[in-house]
Amino acid sequence: MTDFTVTRALFDIPPDLIYLDGNSLGVLPKAASARAEQVIREEWGQQLIRAWNTAHWMEQPKRVGNKISQLVGAPDNSIVIGDTLSIKVYQALASALALNPERKIILSDSGNFPTDLYMAQGLAQSLNQGHLLVTPEPEQVEDFINDQVAVLMLTEVDYRTGRRHDMRRLIEKAHAHGVVTIWDLAHSAGAIPVNLSADNADFAVGCTYKYLNGGPGAPAFIYVAPHLLDKARPALSGWMGHNAPFAFHLDYQPAQDIERMRVGTPAVISSSILEAALDVWKGVNMLELRQRSIELSELFIKEIEAHCPELSLASPRDPEQRGSQVSFRFAHGYAAMQACIAQGVIGDFRAPDIMRFGFTPLYISLEEVKRATEIITQIMRDRTWDKPEYKQRAAVT
Ligand SMILES: *Cc1c(COP(=O)(O)O)cnc(C)c1O
Repeated sequence: MTDFTVTRALFDIPPDLIYLDGNSLGVLPKAASARAEQVIREEWGQQLIRAWNTAHWMEQPKRVGNKISQLVGAPDNSIVIGDTLSIKVYQALASALALNPERKIILSDSGNFPTDLYMAQGLAQSLNQGHLLVTPEPEQVEDFINDQVAVLMLTEVDYRTGRRHDMRRLIEKAHAHGVVTIWDLAHSAGAIPVNLSADNADFAVGCTYKYLNGGPGAPAFIYVAPHLLDKARPALSGWMGHNAPFAFHLDYQPAQDIERMRVGTPAVISSSILEAALDVWKGVNMLELRQRSIELSELFIKEIEAHCPELSLASPRDPEQRGSQVSFRFAHGYAAMQACIAQGVIGDFRAPDIMRFGFTPLYISLEEVKRATEIITQIMRDRTWDKPEYKQRAAVT
């Protein structure tokens, strides 16, 4: 059995704070500070350039990728970390489109995170081959899968509502029509069980600063199904993805394995913190994590709906249809969220009216969720949010 009081003790969380925003930026693992100190003082400070070999910095992107593999049902050496998620979306899409050169439709949905759509638009423009990005409503996307579609590119869990796509079913239909699939796991990795191999995914990407607690700007990851690896042409053909980076050949030749999806010199300090953060998952059973996540979110919905009639549920009511977050709509959602934060309940806001709360069983308990609903209830009852200072929009909401 996964002991969530044990995992909780592995994190440094400010006292008197109920942090329901691990879906946006995970909390600080205690091991991260020590690891950062070690990599900065000992590895960088003392070993300097030698550390690429002595501290194994060079192998780190694949080594850390293998730790992520275990959380998303991928085989060893099928994931590598680096760059940002936006970059990894671009890479995956460029490779996927090249596998289906006769087709011009990129199918996504209107619930996808904007950067994924922006990267697709930018790539289509650069390719200048007539690619078209199609974005139906998420509920309709399945009907749009046909023999004209080159690539189906979806985010499994919607960043606003937490609505979850049926990955296995959509992949099956896509493959039946010769469509290559890309899954963005930004709100899945570390949040819900993912089985890339069993579901037959082609490409997947994700970030590590949300449910994986890698810290702000931590490197992203990319998965390529082993059978596609030697066919997946890297569009960002940087030297770190070369077959022999230190041979310094003039011509690019991709690495034989997943390392071909590397681009340039990796962010070693940030990757080291992520590596330490991933150790928290040792002994965590993803099915038990999912079970607890559902208990937390169901309790939250039940209490909010019982006491806050002003808030209306924006997430699917069936927990099986949700990821690990719950959203409520409220016309004054921004101000209400500021009032919550001022009282120690941290969630976030997504325009135009969504109050978003993330549930992270590794460090959030049922008691805290109950307490959070009491604080929110009080805020709604007293209209505490109706103050000018809570209505000032900050750059990040
Ligand atoms: C968080 C998130 C991103 C963020 O991309 P970055 O390049 O890391 O800023 C992209 N896509 C989805 C679906 C996300 O949830």
